[in-house]
Amino acid sequence: MENKLLNISKDKTLFTPGPLTTSRTIKQAMLRDLGSRDKEFIGIITEIRNNLLALCNTKKGKYETILMQGSGTFGVESVISSTVPPEGKILIIINGAYGHRMVKIANYYKIKYLTLEYPENSIPNLKEIKKILIQDKEITNVAVVHCETTTGIINPIKEIGAIVKNAKRKYFVDAMSSFGAVPIDVEKCSIDYIVSSSNKCIEGVPGFSFIIAKTTSIKEIKGYSRSLSLDLYEQWFGLDTNGQFRFTPPTHSLMAFKQALQELKEEGSIVGRAKRYKKNYDVLISGMRKLGFKEYVPTKLQGYIITSFLYPKHPKFSFEKFYSLLNGKNQVIYPGKLSQVDCFRIGNIGRIFEEDVRILLLVIEETLKEMGIKL
Ligand SMILES: *Cc1c(COP(=O)(O)O)cnc(C)c1O
Repeated sequence: MENKLLNISKDKTLFTPGPLTTSRTIKQAMLRDLGSRDKEFIGIITEIRNNLLALCNTKKGKYETILMQGSGTFGVESVISSTVPPEGKILIIINGAYGHRMVKIANYYKIKYLTLEYPENSIPNLKEIKKILIQDKEITNVAVVHCETTTGIINPIKEIGAIVKNAKRKYFVDAMSSFGAVPIDVEKCSIDYIVSSSNKCIEGVPGFSFIIAKTTSIKEIKGYSRSLSLDLYEQWFGLDTNGQFRFTPPTHSLMAFKQALQELKEEGSIVGRAKRYKKNYDVLISGMRKLGFKEYVPTKLQGYIITSFLYPKHPKFSFEKFYSLLNGKNQVIYPGKLSQVDCFRIGNIGRIFEEDVRILLLVIEETLKEMGIKL
């Protein structure tokens, strides 16, 4: 299918963790040029900031939205480099690649840290977190990933939040791949900082990340940042003072995001979107099991965002071949990112529906036959 006027053809369907398939109307929202100091554009920024607060059940004055240029990692890096006090120490809870990335960031900035690491298919031990916060008085901040996109496992952010709040430390949640798809009440989860990005479950296009910060917490971090462009406090101060970004904003991406938030609302907000993603997940899992595939994460810990499947134990299975055959049929899946086990991943997020998942399953079945594999 092709639209000559817009030169848009039907793209491959992305069953990935992002960037994701987006609606045509979201892409069309970018067909304009707005100046960064334009009144309309500044209005868009304000609207986006307020709408994001409403999505996590809070409002301005209690929490603040900070928009940060760059991909999701820039947002995570902004929080780590700007919120740990100069002599502070961050406890990083790890059960996947994105937890490890936080350690990498702390190393770059020479920020003191401690890790609590768990296997990629199990959730953190709450008693250990509690204990370490009592024992190590140097710890000032605690960080955890909500949906570890490495596997799709969902970590208990509310329970961890209660422990961190009780221990009077600052709490950071990387909710990159869950925000917009899983309801998160920032107040009830005792969150100080939470991060996501424009191109995950809000279904916008890449260009920026956003940080929702507790107002009292962000007011305490002035001067902490080890980076100019990623200074969370100054970025917030700039946005709050004149409604503008400090440096060139991703104008087109923000226009697309405004439209994406509108489409989220039309879908019934997070509850409505969660329903569609869950349906995608249910159809995918039952279809994949029927074909003989097995998941890596125990079902009760598995979220509906993305799923890791073990490589089938069959002499003719090669992931590279499987991937490229699917790709040739317009179905884009994703390689695994696990340290120990061979897996590939299939995402349920983005502008995809049950019908798209059914097509993928048919194509997978056909591809297995082509490869001479019967599971
Ligand atoms: C996608 C993702 C990131 C990184 O985002 P980029 O946009 O690739 O920089 C970080 N954390 C989690 C949990 C993610 O899913």
